[in-house]
Parts: sequence; C-alpha cells; structure tokens
Amino acid sequence: MPVVAMIGGGQLARMTQQAAIELGQTLRVLSGTAGEPAARASADVVLGSHTDLAALREVARGAHALTFDHEHVPTEHLDTLVGEGVNVQPPPSALVFAQDKLKMRARLRELGLPVPDFAPVTSEADLTEFGEAHEWRVVIKTVRGGYDGRGVWLPDTADAAVAVVREQLAAGAPLMVEQRVEMVRELSAMVARSPFGQGATWPVVETVQRKGQCAVAIAPAPGLSDDAAADAQNIALRVAAELGVVGVMAVEMFEKADGSVSINELAMRPHNSGHWTQDGARTSQFEQHLRAVLDYPLGDCSPTAPVTVMANVLGAPAEPELSMDERLHHLFARMPDAKVHLYDKGERPDRKIGHVNVVGAPGGSPDDPAYVADIRERAERAAHWLSHGVWTDGWDPHHG
Ligand code: ADP
Repeated sequence: MPVVAMIGGGQLARMTQQAAIELGQTLRVLSGTAGEPAARASADVVLGSHTDLAALREVARGAHALTFDHEHVPTEHLDTLVGEGVNVQPPPSALVFAQDKLKMRARLRELGLPVPDFAPVTSEADLTEFGEAHEWRVVIKTVRGGYDGRGVWLPDTADAAVAVVREQLAAGAPLMVEQRVEMVRELSAMVARSPFGQGATWPVVETVQRKGQCAVAIAPAPGLSDDAAADAQNIALRVAAELGVVGVMAVEMFEKADGSVSINELAMRPHNSGHWTQDGARTSQFEQHLRAVLDYPLGDCSPTAPVTVMANVLGAPAEPELSMDERLHHLFARMPDAKVHLYDKGERPDRKIGHVNVVGAPGGSPDDPAYVADIRERAERAAHWLSHGVWTDGWDPHHG
C-alpha cells in the first residue's frame, strides 16, 4: 500500500492518519516533537523541522506523495524536493498561493476572480495612499506566515494603521493592505482536486470566527440560495483547476449584502471548515485529501444529514477542575449523539484542542431557522462544556 508523508504533526495530520488507517495505510509524519498530536498517533514519525531540508528529505524517502498539514514549508525546499523526484502534492507552484497572500491576491485578480482591492506595503507612504483611497476602511496583513488571525490587523483609524505598519516594517515583515469588506458573514467552499483533474465539492459552509479564529461551522450555510452556493462552488473549483491544486482546499470567502462573494483566503490542506465532513458527509475531507494526493478517484461529497454543525473546543481561560475524562462522561450522558474529536493536546486559553460535530435529525432543512439554531446550540453547548466544564444553560446532571 502507498505511503503518504505529511509535513506537520498537528491535529490535521492526526485526523488524516485516522483516514489513512481506513484505507490500509499508515501516514508518515514530520513532527517537531514526539508530543504533537499526529506524532502520538502514528507509528511512522520523523522528528525534525519543516524548515530543515535534511528532515524533509528523510520524511519524503520512499513516500508515494508528500503533503502538508500547514503551509509554512519554505518554497525553495519544496522546489529542491521536486527536482529530486519527490511527488509533492499540492505542488509548490500551487502551494505558493496559499503561502503568500500578495501573490494569491494578484493571481486571482488576474483570473478575474472576486478579491478585495489590495496593495503591497513597503513604506508608510504605500499605506497612506491606499488608506486615503479607501476612507481608511483597511485591513493590514503580513504577506506570509499568518494563521488563525495572527498577522492580520483591522485598525479603526489612520493613526492605528500607521502604527501597525511602522512596527511591522521595523520588524522586517513583508506587508500588504487591503480593503475592509463589509460582509454579512463568512463562507468556506471546500473542494478537492486530483492530478488526473477530477474535482469535487462539498456544500458551502458558514463559518463563525471568534478572536480571529474559526469557532463554528454550519453545513450547509443556512439560507444560502442555490445560485449563490453554486457560484461559490464554481469559484472554488476554478481556483483549484487554474492554480493546479492537488488535494483538498478551503476557499474562504466573504458574503456581501448584495449576495456576491469576495475571496479571502486559500488553505491547500484539510481545514477547520471541513471538520463537519467527518460525521456529516459520505467522504470526509481527510479521506478525500489522501485519495486526491494519491490520484485515486475522489469520493462522494454529499451530506448525510440536512445540517451538521461543528463547534471547536477552544481552551478555557483556566483549565477546569473537572478532568477532560469526567467532562466527557457528563457530555455523553447528556448528548449521546454528540460526535467528539479530541486532539490529545494540552489545554491553554483559546487553543484548538478538539471539536464536536452534531448531525441534524432527518427531515429538517437548512432554511428552517429553528432547526438550525437547535443543532448549533447543542454543538456549541457541548464544545463549551468540554473546554470550560460549565453548561451554558445551567444544566445540573443530577437534577436536569
Ligand atoms: P488567517 O490567515 O489568520 O486565517 P485571514 O486573512 O483569514 O487570516 O483573516 C482573519 C480574519 O480577519 C477573517 O476571518 C476576517 O474575519 C477578518 N478579515 C480578513 N480580511 C478581511 C477583509 N479584507 N475585510 C474584512 N475582514 C477581514
């Protein structure tokens, strides 16, 4: 059976390992330490850094495909590996658009795809020119290396924007500025593409962000018209084909008041907005990613329920007294249908340590607000209980 090597030992690699097991494979991971979530779950681990070419070579040796659980591997190392015959998927020529926000914006604009107006910032003057042209409704981003809201600033005034740029330029960070989009909500269109050129899309989801990171995903996005959903899916398929993406990709978008969308981010790997597929779709994003990078025919992306809601378990400000084991006992007693996915990570404030999927009962509809609200409330309540050890509705296990 084939060996897939994944760079990064985080929860995405850990959950890809679960899917690999079902396909009769063992995922090989490159992990910084033996304590990372995927290293603890795989028998085939290389310890080393994703910036060390020797470690990358070692994990790639004999693998049928080399892929990623994050996009922080230096592009030049990946080019070297490709030159040495390693099957890097997605190829560095595509991955660079998930690594470099400026290149991504420029390429998508060139393709005529909807993106917010943007400009590179190498001086305060660049910022001022763009800010004045956009009434200072701006977002400043580091071009590379940001994630979960790190490296993104939404300053409220010109002075605040200048202060960010001054500080970041002094620290040597390549920067860009873009128009702040007036959005009604955030969407994510997850697609998969194989080297053969087959494409597949899951229903478009709504994502809810808190403190700059994804907290909840609702699949499909409630109330999204069929036309708008098809538009978003077609945009994502087109991005995948035009950039030559292989594997799964999340295309994060902003939905605007007029119903149109603007592309925000690309993630060329399994993504938080696709976790719902583990319990709510015929093929999970993790299995699909393996199928795609190995050029197997892709799996069916149909949902198995009218609505599935994923809520992240984000570390509480202080670790609860009740152990995670006890919290699980209580959760399972109250919500037998909650599907729990824990990453075997230490609890720290706001850290993603797991997620809960709640799959809606048959017969409901994403256009029925009460049905959606009930599933969402249960998913969020379960996730909050697991992180905080507190029921948001004051439920008492002994008295109900
Ligand atoms: P990350 O790489 O950390 O995921 P993003 O580019 O997705 O960073 O930005 C994080 C969050 O900041 C987004 O989810 C969104 O809420 C907000 N944001 C980013 N760009 C814009 C924009 N152009 N207009 C409005 N909000 C934005």
